Amino acid sequence: MSRRSSAFIGVGLAVLLVLPLLSSSFYITVLNNIGMYALATLGVVLLTGVAGMTSFGQAAFVGLGAYTTAALIGPSVLNLGAMAGIPWIALGLGLLITLAFAFVLGLLTLKLSGHYLPLGTIAWGMSLYSLFGTLESLGSHTGIADLPPLKIAGVVFGDGPRMYYLIWGSVLLAALLIRNLLESRMGRAIRALRGGQEMATSMGVDVFRAKMVVFLIAAGLAGISGWLYAYTQRFVSPAPFNVQSGIDYLFMALLGGVTSLWGALIGASIVVLLREWLQDLLPLLLGRAGNFESIVFGLLVVLVMQRWPGGVYGALSTLLARGLKLGPRHATRLPAPDASMPVPPLPRRARPNPGERVLDVRGVTKRFGGLVANNAVSLQVDAGEIMAVIGPNGAGKSTLFNLISGVMAPNEGDVIFRGHRVNGQSPRLLAAAGLSRTFQHVKLLPEMTVLENAALGAHLRGRKGVFASALRLDGEDEGRLLSEARAQLERVGLGEFLDRPAGSLALGQQRVLEIARALCADPCLLLLDEPAAGLRLKEKEALAELIRKLRAEGVAVLLVEHDMDFVMGLVDRIVVMEFGQKIAEGLPEAIQRDPAVLKAYLGADVGADVGADVGGGGE
Ligand code: ADP
Ligand code: MG
Repeated sequence: MSRRSSAFIGVGLAVLLVLPLLSSSFYITVLNNIGMYALATLGVVLLTGVAGMTSFGQAAFVGLGAYTTAALIGPSVLNLGAMAGIPWIALGLGLLITLAFAFVLGLLTLKLSGHYLPLGTIAWGMSLYSLFGTLESLGSHTGIADLPPLKIAGVVFGDGPRMYYLIWGSVLLAALLIRNLLESRMGRAIRALRGGQEMATSMGVDVFRAKMVVFLIAAGLAGISGWLYAYTQRFVSPAPFNVQSGIDYLFMALLGGVTSLWGALIGASIVVLLREWLQDLLPLLLGRAGNFESIVFGLLVVLVMQRWPGGVYGALSTLLARGLKLGPRHATRLPAPDASMPVPPLPRRARPNPGERVLDVRGVTKRFGGLVANNAVSLQVDAGEIMAVIGPNGAGKSTLFNLISGVMAPNEGDVIFRGHRVNGQSPRLLAAAGLSRTFQHVKLLPEMTVLENAALGAHLRGRKGVFASALRLDGEDEGRLLSEARAQLERVGLGEFLDRPAGSLALGQQRVLEIARALCADPCLLLLDEPAAGLRLKEKEALAELIRKLRAEGVAVLLVEHDMDFVMGLVDRIVVMEFGQKIAEGLPEAIQRDPAVLKAYLGADVGADVGADVGGGGE
């Protein structure tokens, strides 16, 4: 961790520690509310800001935790408040019920795409709210009152400073565990969700599972917040858990800054404090009673989103960095640069024998309605061979790539990878079997560091999961993954940019970063979609050198490329496509003189040299 962030955290902790000593009991109550909101808002930040899933349903999960607790300890319901250990039973049961609900709702909604997931969260928010309000045994809409205070080992927590320390201790612990998680193998997989499903699965990430993990963590945080709420308020009713409150949590996250864990704390503080003040002030100013603060909040969120998409946290950190002339933020975990604690390298997969057939595409046809994008195309690539697929725009090259990489299945024909028929098999399984790829349109996570982006490629070579990461028990695993990422980055010439955000690299360097990420998976077949696009001459030469080195190691390389100078000097064989058909295949020299190829590219049978003339033609 950098000295700067340690200093900030130290000051923040000191303030939190002495705050209740300086505050009136009214403000301690306010601080307790902020803490409980912040805890649940952490879940919203994780869902919405980190994983890209908008949820309006967080309040309902808080309600589940609160109602479970109230039902157990409430004198009007089970009345177990005096039982030994009941707080822990309530916490455990509350979490269990919250997580069970979240799991079922996750199964139903996480596969939905686009606007359906947010709509789904509204739907369950409404149903749970109605459930709380209808069940007679839970006091219908009047709720459950007269709950006993929290008592652990003879200590009564009440709603004052003791409760304050418990609430804020929970917030800080949760933030710490989540930060640990996000800076790990599983964390990278979760953050990859924002980069799109296609990229994440190609890296071997189980997208559904990663979404479910985030979903359960968010629900669990809400459940704990609900437990604290029941003991602090000592009264629960349905109103605080309706969809309006779900929107409030989202407001807090957006206002505070949805991409940072700090955003949850800042957002909860702003909303709770402002609401306290505005509720008193606005009716005085306007001379009448009413919920005017809601209007102010609505306007505030619109304004903040307009001016600072990163929320108040984003604006503050930019201001601070500018004021103190600080450089970009650094990742907190980097592999040890020296061999002070040597990590054994990751094991490598069994190499195909030299000359072994790695990829065998047999007469694949792909139709889009009436359009035949690939018509009975066949090609083979062996270990230690570089093959290029070239052809004019719309020839069907990307479609062929998609058929090979499992993005879609062919209508006819077979794709055989390392001896197995893999038609339409999930890109995740293909990645596990040794197929890695880059994308024609770069798919990186711009805010993640170069090192972390590369390490995502090694996802399937690590083992540690959520709990080990959150508790930082993944040291060795993580060290090996990051060392591998570092080694591959140094190999492709990006070694000096390890802790820079990927989005700050030039486009050419981002392409090279994608190659390093693909190499982190230890592939035996590498698919490169226009690797040289946007590279300068020197970078192209370095890239060609790298690809030759991979060939020498026995990797099979299949690339689509428009830059003929690059292709002709590098590859072993070329397949030429036009209108979905393979029109030629052979050695570069032969292709350059092939009349059909010349006709396809130049529209006439001129005897010009393809190498000089076909260059442009980007998509
Ligand atoms: P290339 O990569 O060689 O430029 P593509 O494989 O992208 O060519 O496209 C081949 C043809 O298939 C084009 O006519 C394109 O419009 C069409 N096509 C590609 N993908 C789809 C799709 N998902 N749905 C419908 N048509 C598609
Ligand atoms: Mg294409």
